[in-house]
Amino acid sequence: MNQINLPEKICAVIRRLADRGYHGYAVGGCVRDMLMGKEPHDFDITTDAFPSETSESFPDCPIILTGLKHGTVTVVYEGENIEITTFRTDGEYLDNRHPESVTFVRNIVEDLSRRDFTVNAMAYNPEEGLVDLFKGKDDIARKIIRCVGDADTRFNEDGLRILRAMRFASVLGFKVEEKTAESVVKNKKLLKNISVERIYSEFTKLISGDNAVSILKQFYEVLSELFGEIPAENIECLDYCPKEHTVRYAALFAHMGEETAGKTIRALKTDNDTCRLVKKLVGSLAWEMPKFGSERFEKEVAHLLAENSFDDFAKIISLRRAFEELRGEPADNSEKLLETAKKLVEGKACLSIKSLDVSGKELAKAGIPQSAEMGRILKELMRLVIEGEVENRCDALIERAKIL
Ligand code: ATP
Ligand code: MG
Repeated sequence: MNQINLPEKICAVIRRLADRGYHGYAVGGCVRDMLMGKEPHDFDITTDAFPSETSESFPDCPIILTGLKHGTVTVVYEGENIEITTFRTDGEYLDNRHPESVTFVRNIVEDLSRRDFTVNAMAYNPEEGLVDLFKGKDDIARKIIRCVGDADTRFNEDGLRILRAMRFASVLGFKVEEKTAESVVKNKKLLKNISVERIYSEFTKLISGDNAVSILKQFYEVLSELFGEIPAENIECLDYCPKEHTVRYAALFAHMGEETAGKTIRALKTDNDTCRLVKKLVGSLAWEMPKFGSERFEKEVAHLLAENSFDDFAKIISLRRAFEELRGEPADNSEKLLETAKKLVEGKACLSIKSLDVSGKELAKAGIPQSAEMGRILKELMRLVIEGEVENRCDALIERAKIL
């Protein structure tokens, strides 16, 4: 098993707490990742100091108190934000998602006991070494996700843990331990009580994991609880998709068609760009694509690039390719589409209204009416430039606009 070497700043923060008579530990994901030999993306610290005591221990550092409700104080230590959270227990859960109260405690046992899985419930500090009350280290060695304590109880406290079990198994490449797995399926209905924002955040990580296909198949009942029936092919397609969440959502929702896929992703209350793209990607599966070898191939690719940014187009192609590869169909045409699009963009071809050598203002000055018509005229000029029917030169464009 790998050594734990905490970064110097984290050690310094833990030492400072110790100087003041408190105990501080690195905890949760960072301990798990270090034991697995992976670079943690952040380090959480847990301590028996109450929030005010933590703040007072760092009189020389800026303090951010946004997480105070949960006992978290962010100390800006030598320019780095370090979250320090007081040991706590969660009160009773009455709605399968929020503890009724959070109580600060002085005992690390209680804090580790409230955590979801054994691999996430370890703490470490250089003085005491690893605090591993639930055999998390063994479960890492055996590649197992197991609830801390009784799985049914833990999922009933917080239904999101159902998806978190699947997420960690998918991302870490672990198996869900048998009892935990049974309980995941048995309690799937609890997800109804969880906010869509929390579901989106976990589910997005789940589908981007290396093990996503096998986990989604194993826990198909949970998947269909969330999104209805999904064809096996869509799930299997994930293995051929890039690790990009919009492409992966589109692969899963491919059977829905553009409108329903758009509604389904929007219901998760995610950002507009994700919604727009997932909808477009699903819609694009029904597009008739230009065929390489045809005389108009390059022009048609240029028209597509006038309608879609290169980034969107590249994603459209990657989704297509994923289904082609999955089905064992030739992917040459998709490759040519992307290659040609790259060439056009690199060759600075005129592919957007912005790169026309004339603006709406200039057209208006030349006597073309300023109205809704203008948009249509610019679009038509764009089309004509791509077709090679008019040169991308201001005077030529104005002349042509007059007869549109
Ligand atoms: P990641 O590397 O994805 O950030 P992580 O383990 O740090 O993984 P977080 O969601 O950031 O996961 O949570 C931090 C820690 O808080 C977890 O390791 C776990 O100990 C605890 N935790 C988070 N969410 C829950 C929950 N819903 N129930 C119980 N414990 C939780
Ligand atoms: Mg984390």
